Amino acid sequence: MQKIERKRLSVADYRQGLRNHDTLILAQAITLVESQLANDQHLANELIQSILPLCGQSLRIGITGVPGVGKSTFIETFGTFLTQQNKKVAVLAIDPSSGKTKGSILGDKTRMEELAKNPFAFIRPTATGTALGGVANRTREAILLCEAAGFDVVIVETVGVGQSETMVRGMVDYFLLLMLAGAGDELQGIKKGIMEMADGVVVTKADGENHKRAIQAQADLQHALHLFQLAESGWTPTVSTSSALEKKGLEETWRMMEHYKNFTDQNGFFKANRQSQNNLWLEERFTLLWNSRLTDDKKFQAMKIDLQNKIAENKMTVRDAANLLLEVSKTLT
Ligand code: GDP
Repeated sequence: MQKIERKRLSVADYRQGLRNHDTLILAQAITLVESQLANDQHLANELIQSILPLCGQSLRIGITGVPGVGKSTFIETFGTFLTQQNKKVAVLAIDPSSGKTKGSILGDKTRMEELAKNPFAFIRPTATGTALGGVANRTREAILLCEAAGFDVVIVETVGVGQSETMVRGMVDYFLLLMLAGAGDELQGIKKGIMEMADGVVVTKADGENHKRAIQAQADLQHALHLFQLAESGWTPTVSTSSALEKKGLEETWRMMEHYKNFTDQNGFFKANRQSQNNLWLEERFTLLWNSRLTDDKKFQAMKIDLQNKIAENKMTVRDAANLLLEVSKTLT
């Protein structure tokens, strides 16, 4: 097949495309901010700078749960429900593990078929193969781009394993945990820590024989969540049940999110949280830049290897070696 050379877009082209809610341009803009090429990065910096006034108006929702809990099906159904309420919905998927495990999220684009065809929705599986820090940075910028393109709700989906929960928690307004009824905590691999991060829980697959168990699980979970220490937001997480199959519980789930938004708007947490998330982003971005600066420096790397050898031979302490590296890093130009 002949490769079609695409005309290189200018910042003004991207910006106009986003303002026109053009999802093709949005996809290209996300690819641009993901690019490692110096030219692209330069353009990406300018683009992000130029769209900042258009950003921030969406509700950013993180959704997690173990593989099989029904995330894709839920997002497809819930996303469709939201578009029927005249909301534009973007879905960004994060799966840092999929490079290794060919995890479940990679196939999402085909699994969320209905939503993918919906003109008021946009689905973007994440590019994988990068370190978590890089994925976090790109996803944060992708959120901004979606907002500039006029999306009212941005969903960031992640798998219920590993560190990706903490990462997603740090970039969204509302964190939703999907759980199955009747499966013990061990079975679901859900750690207490993840439950503590949640602003809301949805018990999935509340249909057929499972319906009764789901209602029981809802009550049990609500009780358990009341026993947790109150979150910084002052909000006690709420629990709903849902059946993506029967398209039930969607409105209740959305209402939980709206309540949270109103509650945290009123007590000031919503704004303060976004501010502290930006501070965290700055820290992460700086660390990322600093690390790659050091990795790229041959002299620094050679010295590090030399020091590692000295440590291995018991000729130097880790403490002294780290101090020496710090001194050398200060001389880098
Ligand atoms: P994910 O791995 O968390 O993204 O889960 P999927 O969305 O792929 O769903 C896993 C399985 O559960 C699939 O076989 C779905 O058909 C099934 N499933 C998802 N939602 C429901 C639901 O609401 N009710 C029932 N009965 N099955 C569901």
